[in-house]
Amino acid sequence: MEIIHISAECYPVAKAGGLGDVVGALPKYQVKAGHIAKVVMPMYRTKFLYEHEWTVDFKGQTNLGNWFFDYTVIKESNNQLGYDLYLIDINGLLDRQKIYGYDDDAERFTAFQIAFVNWMSHWEHHPDVVHCHDHHTGLIPFMMQHCYDYSQLRNIATVITIHNAQYQGWMGWDKSRYIPRWDLWKRGMLDWNETINPLAAGVKCAGKVTTVSWSYMEELRSSANGLEKLFQMERAKCVGILNGIDHEVWDPATDPYLDKNFTHKTVAAGKQQNKKALCERFGFDPEHPLFVFIGRLVGEKAADVLPDAIRTAIQQTNGTASFLVLGSGDTNVEWQFQQMKEPYAGVFNVVIGYDETLSHLMYAGADFLLMPSRVEPCGLNQMYAMRYGTVPMVRSTGGLQDTVVDMGDHEGFGIRFNHASIGDIAYSVSRAVNVYKDTKQLNWMRQHMMKIDHSWESTVEQYINVYKSLL
Ligand code: ADP
Repeated sequence: MEIIHISAECYPVAKAGGLGDVVGALPKYQVKAGHIAKVVMPMYRTKFLYEHEWTVDFKGQTNLGNWFFDYTVIKESNNQLGYDLYLIDINGLLDRQKIYGYDDDAERFTAFQIAFVNWMSHWEHHPDVVHCHDHHTGLIPFMMQHCYDYSQLRNIATVITIHNAQYQGWMGWDKSRYIPRWDLWKRGMLDWNETINPLAAGVKCAGKVTTVSWSYMEELRSSANGLEKLFQMERAKCVGILNGIDHEVWDPATDPYLDKNFTHKTVAAGKQQNKKALCERFGFDPEHPLFVFIGRLVGEKAADVLPDAIRTAIQQTNGTASFLVLGSGDTNVEWQFQQMKEPYAGVFNVVIGYDETLSHLMYAGADFLLMPSRVEPCGLNQMYAMRYGTVPMVRSTGGLQDTVVDMGDHEGFGIRFNHASIGDIAYSVSRAVNVYKDTKQLNWMRQHMMKIDHSWESTVEQYINVYKSLL
């Protein structure tokens, strides 16, 4: 089967979060399972671009409303990622360093999608499936079915995976002029609450919709940032498939970013050495339990309650536990964390920014990973933590509740709580401190979770079944 993934992110080319990890890994394991999988993404100006060799695959011309533009498709020459990787370049729109956060993101991603369908309409053969990811590619199924110039693409199966339904790519109807000549009777396919909603359009027009965990699929019917009714209506074509993790990239036995590599058999000594490296760098006592948070500092992740919750936990533990935060996001939260650095030196530290290398060392060296997320479609951090023997402390929601078993339950290895509140987080910290003192129990939990299989191999088949149901 030939599958084209189209996405705004793909690790290691450009990643802002879990979307990048998934699109970077899923195609690789689809290829390993005997399929042809390709990834198409925008040509941002990231390090990966300059460090790899490329060949020009196609040059084309199309338009975004009245603006006619040239685009170039380049292909990575050496199959370094285990699948064909194509980048689409549009000068003036995609030639930027960051993935998101520009005022013209609507124009950038709409032009990217138009260039993709335009390029695909020149292909002599058709792939079996076009697999879109999140709202940045949500208009593609609509364009393939309802734009007159692309009617030859109408019969190709389409799938959209929702990694995060909070962001939907809303555009005013004035921007409908961007979409290539389309069947005006199909206005309802683009619309949700009087705006063009690319995510909703993807859900309405794609043959199948998948979300990245079973529980998130359920949750979307009652909480989907305004799209609840849509998910209720489209329930028949929605499937939840839990994300996997790339065991080759995330392997404590070979991870080049660690101070010491380890396996489940050497977990205690291995983690100790990585923890020592972290503690030396951030001024902590390595004897104390180390709690970390890694992620975007936004409301979804309950980052707004974290500063107060950590202050409370520090008082409660009387300075015998350490807390390290890595992330960026809301300026107010970033500021609060910066302010805590000095008064809480020795037990608290923060790195504001994105640091892939440090994140790996944190998964390896920490004892506990905090994830009080209000919304977590799947969550990869808790799975990486488990793979590195770090006890996940999670709010029971979405993918977190599908992957973490509380230590109070049969064969449990994590800590779960119900509310993203100071009280629940602080109470969980006290449970963690108790288990930290019980070396035998902690070691059992570490070894047990390191052996859990979250590999993509077991997930790939589920995606193939979804594609097959459309052919
Ligand atoms: P989301 O996609 O909602 O941000 P996920 O848990 O699905 O959350 O994926 C987050 C991914 O991004 C993980 O690989 C995590 O390690 C990484 N990550 C998030 N923030 C940072 C950061 N500041 N530095 C390094 N890696 C980060």
